[in-house]
Amino acid sequence: MFEPTADSGAVEPVAGRDYPVDIAQLRAWFPGDDACLDYLDWLRWPQGFICPRCGSPSAGRDEIGRYRCHGCRRRVSVTAGTIFDKTRIPMTVWFEAIWLFTAGKSGISAMYLHRVLPIGSYQTAWTMLSRLRQVMSSAESEPLRGTVEMDETFLGGPRHGKFGRGAAGKTLVAGALEILPDGWGRARLGVIPDASAASLKAFVRANIASGSTVITDAWRSYPSALAGYVHEPVNVAASGKPAHESLPAVHRLFALVKRSMEGTYQGSWSVEHLPQYLDEFVFRFNRRHSRSRGLVFMRLLQRAAASQRVTYRDLALVSKPKPVHPAGVHGARAWPGTLDIDSPPLPWRKNT
Ligand SMILES: [Zn+2]
Repeated sequence: MFEPTADSGAVEPVAGRDYPVDIAQLRAWFPGDDACLDYLDWLRWPQGFICPRCGSPSAGRDEIGRYRCHGCRRRVSVTAGTIFDKTRIPMTVWFEAIWLFTAGKSGISAMYLHRVLPIGSYQTAWTMLSRLRQVMSSAESEPLRGTVEMDETFLGGPRHGKFGRGAAGKTLVAGALEILPDGWGRARLGVIPDASAASLKAFVRANIASGSTVITDAWRSYPSALAGYVHEPVNVAASGKPAHESLPAVHRLFALVKRSMEGTYQGSWSVEHLPQYLDEFVFRFNRRHSRSRGLVFMRLLQRAAASQRVTYRDLALVSKPKPVHPAGVHGARAWPGTLDIDSPPLPWRKNT
């Protein structure tokens, strides 16, 4: 059986059975919230229900489909503890938003989401994207390894400002990229407060496996930041080449980030949200070779179903949208009955 507990599951998910192949199939599979919730249920508890409170695998169902744990007697919905907890947005709208979010090569803005889906306000669309980015940031848990190119760059601020370490009014971002024999591997990006050895060391420890080979320029902070790693400094000044030729991969990565942020946000992003945007970029970049956008959709939902809500703080940002229901989604959710001929086919259940 397919076990959707890790990105490197032993059995690969199958297009058209485990995840939809295109947006037409997405809409056919998920005509109402019941089907969406069943899919989340399948992703969250592939081996069957396990109570998130007491760990009991035994539960019944109440009249609206929530589990009633036999261990601790609590009611548990499949969305409890996830980014969908107590959401006012219909799950069908969430699913379509996640499809749009994962289908493109670059990101989508809250303005776009608000325009194309029945989402009551720009703020709500913004909050939905914010939660999805939280999930993306939790997805990159495996550190980079092997040979890694690393550098820092400034984002934001005046387009033709000062360059180099020390430019004012810009945010310093560290980047690292795996160099493979036949191309590039995975990347990481992160905001760092300065280019001191301590700041660079914190980024390196969080993102690169110790013992890896790290190629950098000859900045004086790197030798101590890279204790425990194989350090290969490139003396950019002595080489006579510009930095983007001495460290071509990581500089190409920085160029892609800048172009992506210009394109998606028209440059109007705020420094406080920069870490989220960088995480989103990295999530997409690291899945750029994924055979199917549907698989990325499934992986993001899998993360969402497994994630604890990171914070309730962003709930405060949710304005109260008018209840907008897509056709067919009205009133309390009913669990799909076995005799309900209108039930969607639930192809993901065919293999279990
Ligand atoms: Zn329990």
